[in-house]
Amino acid sequence: MNPERQHKSEIKSLLENPPRRITIITHVNPDGDAMGSSLGLETVLICMGHDTAVIAPNVYPEFLHWLPGNKNVLVYPADKSIAEKKISQAEVIFIIDFNDFRRVNQLKNLLENSPAFKVIIDHHPCPESRANLNITDVSVSSTAELVYQFIKNLELQKFINREVATCLFTGIMADTGCFSYNSSRKETYLAVSELLDYGIDKDGIYYKLYDNFTAHRMQLLGYALNKKMQVLPEYKTVFISLNKDELVKFDFQTGDSENFVNYPLSIKNICFSALFIERDDHVKISFRSKGDFAVNEFARKHFNGGGHLNAAGGESYTTLDKTLHAFRDLLPEYKEQLIKYEI
Ligand code: 5GP
Ligand code: MN
Repeated sequence: MNPERQHKSEIKSLLENPPRRITIITHVNPDGDAMGSSLGLETVLICMGHDTAVIAPNVYPEFLHWLPGNKNVLVYPADKSIAEKKISQAEVIFIIDFNDFRRVNQLKNLLENSPAFKVIIDHHPCPESRANLNITDVSVSSTAELVYQFIKNLELQKFINREVATCLFTGIMADTGCFSYNSSRKETYLAVSELLDYGIDKDGIYYKLYDNFTAHRMQLLGYALNKKMQVLPEYKTVFISLNKDELVKFDFQTGDSENFVNYPLSIKNICFSALFIERDDHVKISFRSKGDFAVNEFARKHFNGGGHLNAAGGESYTTLDKTLHAFRDLLPEYKEQLIKYEI
């Protein structure tokens, strides 16, 4: 039997013999896909009788806290000792929505060294880390869609309930920008139509994800677009930066700047958008593009990051000002690629 097939049958037999100690871990700054995929999978495993844990490597936005199963998520470092125990003592670890163990920050060594049977379920390009079983496909909309396929391939549909379907639908919707990108395969819609059969409240999920912000967050968005947006038509590029004082002024909470980076792409003839957020010890950067401009390569090469072709992130360990200068200085090198873009 080839190793991949052997590993598939190994996970099948592990899952078919509960209770197993199963830990699900997702990437730092978890988004809707990361949390939806993790919690949907966890609920299936709980229904099967497994002993489970979900770990988030840091705090995540409040607009995801309504997800079914959220209250038991172990958040690092608040739940440090139990999270570490759940990694080192697990029999199976699911690595959800990432493929580079560095993306769990301080938990990296523990994850790498855990003797557990590891399964990566992910849709990001350029895998950096390998597990025993690697379920990775960049053409798929979201990790949530891959988790749904995984459940079906193992014939575990009978453990899908409304909560699971809600979590998986959330992941698909979040990672496709409500079906505006990463969503041109018919399989995505077949999965969605099957998930709707579990009686999920599709519109309610939308409201909880997108119409669930504080007034401060809305005001910060207005400020960012009105006062901080820099348009560079010669590079078809826009960038926004927010420093710590500005964040404090608008009572910034984790997740408040989520999606801000997408707004400038609505401007005619703009194909590259960047958002710089000053944090305590680094600058968090988000990149988005339209067309062929590969922001994941840009992020990987210049800002210690990565992601998808049109949506990526990175970090900078110098000041916000120096980071912005470095960013601007890079643009001439990419001018030819950027100006090729036509609507
Ligand atoms: P966001 O800008 O929303 O934080 O991230 C956009 C996409 O890029 C997501 O798919 C996210 O997982 C990925 N991403 C964000 N930051 C990083 C990073 O530092 N490294 C890698 N490899 N991917 C990242
Ligand atoms: Mn994802």
